[in-house]
Parts: sequence; C-alpha cells; structure tokens
Amino acid sequence: MSHDPVEAEQHGSVSAFPVRPHVLVVDDEPLILEGLKRLLAAREFDVSTAGGGCDALIAIGKQQFDAILLDLGMPDLNGNEVLRFVAERSPGTPVIVVSGESAIDAAIRALRGGAADFVRKPYEPEELLRRIDNVLARRRLEKENNHILQRLQQSEKWHRFLVNSSPDFIYTLDKDGRFTFVNERVESLLGYRSEDLLGQHYSLVVHEDDIARAEHVFNERRAGDRNARNIEIRLKCNPGARRPRLMNGRCKSVELTATGMYDEQASPFEQRFIGSYGVAKDITERKQAEETVHFQAYHDLLTGLPNRALFRDHLGLMLAQAKRNQKPLAVLSLDLDHFKVINDSLGHTIGDELLLAVGARLRQCLREGDTLARLGGDEFAVLLPTLASRGDVEHICRKIIQVLSKPVYVKGHEIYISVSIGACVSPDDGDMIDSLIRQAEIAMYQAKSQGRCRLQFWESGMQAPYSERMQIEADLRRGLARNEFVLFYQPQVDTGTGEVRGFEALLRWWHPQRGLLTPADFIPVAEESGVIVPIGDWVLRQASAQLAEWQRAGLPPVRLSINISARQLENPDFVDSVMRAIQVYALDGHQMELEITESLLMRDFEANAIKLGRLSASGIRLAIDDFGTGYSSFKYLSRFPIHTLKIDQSFVQDLEREENISIVNAMIAMGRGMNLNVVAEGVETESQLVRLQQMRCHEMQGYFYSAPVSGHEATHLLANRARGFGHAGRAAG
Ligand code: C2E
Ligand code: CA
Ligand code: CA
Repeated sequence: MSHDPVEAEQHGSVSAFPVRPHVLVVDDEPLILEGLKRLLAAREFDVSTAGGGCDALIAIGKQQFDAILLDLGMPDLNGNEVLRFVAERSPGTPVIVVSGESAIDAAIRALRGGAADFVRKPYEPEELLRRIDNVLARRRLEKENNHILQRLQQSEKWHRFLVNSSPDFIYTLDKDGRFTFVNERVESLLGYRSEDLLGQHYSLVVHEDDIARAEHVFNERRAGDRNARNIEIRLKCNPGARRPRLMNGRCKSVELTATGMYDEQASPFEQRFIGSYGVAKDITERKQAEETVHFQAYHDLLTGLPNRALFRDHLGLMLAQAKRNQKPLAVLSLDLDHFKVINDSLGHTIGDELLLAVGARLRQCLREGDTLARLGGDEFAVLLPTLASRGDVEHICRKIIQVLSKPVYVKGHEIYISVSIGACVSPDDGDMIDSLIRQAEIAMYQAKSQGRCRLQFWESGMQAPYSERMQIEADLRRGLARNEFVLFYQPQVDTGTGEVRGFEALLRWWHPQRGLLTPADFIPVAEESGVIVPIGDWVLRQASAQLAEWQRAGLPPVRLSINISARQLENPDFVDSVMRAIQVYALDGHQMELEITESLLMRDFEANAIKLGRLSASGIRLAIDDFGTGYSSFKYLSRFPIHTLKIDQSFVQDLEREENISIVNAMIAMGRGMNLNVVAEGVETESQLVRLQQMRCHEMQGYFYSAPVSGHEATHLLANRARGFGHAGRAAG
C-alpha cells in the first residue's frame, strides 16, 4: 500500500488547508510589489515576493503557493511565460493576473494560459482582496472535493482490498444465482480466476452431493438475523486449474453464510429480491482433522480397515436394506490359524506385516460393496450385503481359503497361513446385529475345532466353545456333580518296623473322555477358578468316610493326611468344614492330619495361626508339606501347632549327593529336636531307605513301599499291616 500514490497524496495533502494562505506576488515595479505585500500581510496572508519573471520561476520551483499574483509585462520574462511554467509545474495553483494591459486580448490570452482571474491596474484594494478570497475559496473547495473523491476511491479500494485479501471466499449472486462478484480468494481456494466465475451459475462450483443443501443457502432470500448461517457444504475445485498444487484435493469444505439482497429503491411494501451475497469460510483443515479423529475411532489403525464399531454400523444399515430388498445377507468371521505361533516366533513387526498382507488378499476376494473389517488380533469379519443364495457364500469362502493358502513373503520369511471361517446368513439365522456377529464367531470356532482351514455355517443350537481353561472348569463342576473324583491312598510307613502309620489321600479324576487324571492336570485350574473349594470339601468328607469305614471294620487305627490348598485355607468356612467332617463321621481329631505347605502358611500368617490353632484344639494334626522348598524357617514354624514335617521328595531322590545328605540330616535332626514326626517323601529305592534309617527319619512314603492305591487296596494293605520291608518291594498299584 505504501507505494500507492493516492495514499501518499493523502498524507501530503495536510498542507492543502493552511491556516494562513501563502501568496506569491510577482511584479518588476518595486513600489507596486511593496504595496501589494503590505495589503496582503495586513489580511493575515503569508507573502513572498518576486521582482521579475525569473525570480518567480525560482520561487515556484522551490515551493507551493496557495495563490500567485502575477504581473504580465516584465522585462526579463513576461507573465505569460510564468503562467505556462505554473501550468506545468504546479497546475492546481491559482494565478491572478494583475496587469496594466488594457487590451482585452491580453486578458483573454492570460485566462486561456491558465490564469484564474484578471485584475486591471491600478487595482481597487478591496476588489483585489475579494478576488483573491474568491480564488482561494474555489481552490479550497476544489481541494476538498478532490480529497473526498480520493477518500471515496481510497475507501472502495480499501474495501476491495479487504474483500480480496480476506481468507474467506466472498461473492454476490444475482437473482438467478449467477456470480456477479467473487473475491480473489477464489483463486487459491478453488483454482478459478475471479473473471472465470462471473456470470456462471453457482452450481458450477458445488459438489454434486451437496447441491440440494447448497440450493437452500445460495438461494437465501432472507436478510438480517434470519439468514442462513454456517451451513457446511463442499465446493469443487477447478478441474483444469493451472496450479493444482495450491489445492490439496479436489474439494474444499466450507462453512457458508448467506443473506438476501433487496432493492432499496423499491417500495417498502413489495420487496424486490435482487440477489444474495455470502461468505464461505474454508474449513477443510478442520474437517480433515475431524475426519482423522472419526477415522481413528472407526478403523483399525494397523490395516486401515473398519473396526468392530464401524462393522456393526454397516451391518445395521445393510440389514435394513436387505429387509427392504428381501435379499439375504451374510456375516463371515475369519480367524487365522496358528497366527499366535508366527507372532511369537517371528516377532510383532512381521506379525503386523502379515496381517496387512492378509487384509490386502482378503480385499481381493471381495466386491466393492462388501465390508471387510478387522475385529482385533487375527480376527477379521466380512459383510456380504447382497447374496443370491448360500452358495454365494461358499463360493467366496472357497476363494478366500484358496488365496490365503499361498505363502506370504514378509522380510525374507516365507510364511504359510490358513484361515478358519464361520458364516451366518440373515434372515435365516436372525436379524440382530450382535447375535449375527456372535453366531458367525461361534461357527468360526467350530471350524477351528474341526481341523481349521475350513468354512462352517452357523447352525441353531451350536454352543460357544470354551477355551481350554473354561472347558476344564465346566468339566470340574460337572465331574463333581457326577462323582467322577476318587481318592487314592499312599501309605506312610515306619522306617524301622515297616508298619503303616498312616495314609495320604491323593485326588484322582476319572474323566469320561480323558481317562484317569492326576492333580497336576486339573488342580491349578481348580485353584484359580475356585472350584477347589467344593472339591476340597468333597475330599474331606470322602477321606473321613474312608477312615470311618476302616474304624467300623475294626482295622488298626491310622492317620489320614489330607492336602489343603490356598483357596481352601483362605475360605472363611474352612475350619467349620473340617470340624463338620469329623463330627459327621464321629472321628477322633488325632486321626486327621492336614498337609499344608510352608509358603501357604506364611501367606497370611496371623489368620492362619488362628485357624490352625482352633483346629489343633480339636486334636487335628498339622503337617508341613514339601518341607525344604520354602522358607524352612523353624522360628516361624514354631508359631504353628505342627506335628509332622514332610521332607520334600527332591531332597530324598538325590540322597546320593553329599550336600543333600547333610541337608536332610539337618532337617531330620531339627524336626526330631522339635518333637516332630519326620516323614520322607518320594522314597523309591532301598538305598534311600537305608540312608533315612541311618538318619533316624521316623517315616517314609514312596513308590519303594507303595504307590498311591485305591481305597479297596488300601484297606487290604491295612489288614496286612505287619508286612515288613524285606519282601515288600513295590506294593500293588
Ligand atoms: P504332594 O502332596 O507332594 O503329593 C505327593 C506326590 O508325590 C503325589 O503326586 C504322589 O503320587 C507322588 N509320589 C508318591 N511317591 C512317589 C515316589 O516315590 N516318586 C515320585 N516321583 N512321586 C511320588 P500326585 O498324587 O500326582 O499329587 C500331586 C500333588 O497334588 C500333591 O503333591 C498335592 O500337592 C496335590 N494334591 C493331591 N491330592 C490333593 C487334594 O486332595 N487336594 C489338594 N488340594 N491337593 C492335592
Ligand atoms: Ca502332600
Ligand atoms: Ca509333598
């Protein structure tokens, strides 16, 4: 703007209205010059004088005057020359010729040469002053008009500038919707030159899908507060734009505000619509940001595929459409076989690339309108919205299975994958979004359990498969209800005499499909799921029943040891359940021993001390199981009412090693010192027994004497309790 002559003029023109007008008086007659100077000075003029034509040119060349009084006949340079010079150098400056020339043509020549007025000498002072005032007033008016004009031009220019440099697209339309004005912003926004759009209908720049909405805004006939505000539409960029790099994308999102224009001259009773003007704000970036957020909420970020939420949306829409068209629709659930193995062995990066490749291959097998989504991990879903029949599903799935059976190459690895597919079809299999997805998933699990890499349609009554854990948990409860558990008994024998002192009850499960299971197969799940509590209760009752039976049969009294797990011990009902078992079977508390590991005892020291204290008060015995594998702290153990120490089989089995000998020796010595019954577990050989005998271990338990045996065999064994080591070897079982 600073280079703009109008603006420069505006700033310079402050001197256009001086407080005291500055007048140049030119005359070669010194007396006249002096007289005029006085006259003007008396009227508050600033006066400069020039004694000839040449002096006058110098003065005029140096500065601007508000008026010049000019003599015509001067010896050096006559007045007409001076007039010409003024017209050239200072065209606006009014010149009043004051001359003694009486010929009328001199006056005419002077006026044609640009003089503002002509006063004949000798002049009437009042008349001259009036003429000067007139000329100055006219000049002032002229300058004012000029200034206003400049300001007007300036303000229009300024508005044009504002409008054109506006970041918004600003336009006016005539009553037929044709552009009558567009600002320059349209160039960078849409790639059109403003001239190109003038006279064009607005629909040229509106996105086809938004025409209906745009019509409402562009035809906006309301003015004032009720105009159309902030309507979002998309504008199309000039397809033939010479500078396409200025525009990212072929469309711009704008927020449009429009107002109707009415003819102000028309009568107030019938408003005459003459067009509309509007402002369109470019919100493309904001829209893009919004779209990114939206995209992320509805897409899987790894593959860019729709996620579960979007899949549900699509399914909802398509279900409605399928209902209208009465066409079937299919939902597929796809899961890669053994993906976890690949992911774990080759790493996540390769796993991710593999998923990308699988996504791309799946896409190849589908049509435009089908939806492919990644529901998580290696699980994909497909929506086939228009089917002729179920046969279509089979056809597409065959294609998918075939395409995915070809190896995938990722970072130098040749990876073979396969996919299991579950499918269900609406309306046959229902028309609820979530249950359709669920059913497809159930069918997919079924496909997996039938050997993977296949398609399985959902069938009514198909049950959701359990994970292996859930399967075992459900089986455990069922097994308990169906009496599939049994107790085996392993004798604990006096190392010196070979007499059976007691039995440890060991749990077994006759699983209908899997056969006889030992605790390692199911105790961990029973522990975690809490099913161990009712199972443990059953063990207590069952063991008590066995003891009562031996008692009734008149067999010699023995101890029965029962293993107690963490969840059981923590159960607030634990002490009562043990007491109940004893009471129900009318047992002597001394006959029952509870085997608890050290670490379990330490877990909740105080609470356990109280519980075990109560049990001990009823005569029930306590054994530390797997001794040596935990804290092995006699100091803490002394806080519990312990009767038996069971040395863990790991020490016993390696009794050949020197260090184990001394450890076991120490444990036995300490146990004896604390008056505890010391039992060695896992005794398998005679030499182990001999060692233990030397170390004066009280009792032994292990395959050398007998493996755990059934209740029936245990009864038999008890009846022959006098059996010595010499001929025993391994007992039956
Ligand atoms: P545990 O209490 O240490 O039981 C001893 C384990 O050693 C038993 O395994 C037994 O069969 C095995 N065993 C006995 N003699 C020998 C031998 O000479 N050599 C070897 N190698 N092993 C021998 P089982 O019956 O499989 O029981 C495993 C564990 O399951 C038990 O370890 C116990 O912690 C737990 N358990 C068993 N029955 C029950 C129960 O009714 N309730 C609870 N909570 N846990 C139980
Ligand atoms: Ca035990
Ligand atoms: Ca043990």
